[in-house]
Amino acid sequence: MRTILLIVASITIAIGAGGCEGPSGQAPTGSANSHDLAGDQMTDKLVLTEQQWKSRLTPEQYHVLREKGTERAFTGKYYAAKDKGLYKCAACGQGLFSWADKYDSGSGWPSFTAPIDDEGVAAQEDRSLGVTRTELVCSRCGSHLGHVFDDGPAPTGLRYCVNSAALDLEPDK
Ligand SMILES: [Zn+2]
Repeated sequence: MRTILLIVASITIAIGAGGCEGPSGQAPTGSANSHDLAGDQMTDKLVLTEQQWKSRLTPEQYHVLREKGTERAFTGKYYAAKDKGLYKCAACGQGLFSWADKYDSGSGWPSFTAPIDDEGVAAQEDRSLGVTRTELVCSRCGSHLGHVFDDGPAPTGLRYCVNSAALDLEPDK
């Protein structure tokens, strides 16, 4: 009986190892999924413990994404970026914003007029700092991205103000 259990356990581990990301988090399976458009993203939630998030994110990413931190203005790697590509959630790889909707808001944070799909981001009320703001979170993993304000340019009039640390740019090929 014990032997059978051990065999079953080894098989499970072997199967699991093929489909999971390694400890480095660099397995290609995770990012390949992010190409799926929002249609099935809603059913593909990523739920991890805070300990697991800590081990796959840098301390700065963890602070912004999981502790709702804000990087200092003009310090992030993407605020002035004009490279063509898809900005993905740095925590789970879900595609969020296109370079084509990015504009220079002068705020010191990457700013977009719209997400690539409304399903990719979720908005929720944030009453910290004594003011009511609209917080943006990734719809797939619930990580904090930034805030959305209504002082953006046409056509949406919205400014999606996102921390560079919450984003991962996948350049167009
Ligand atoms: Zn995410």
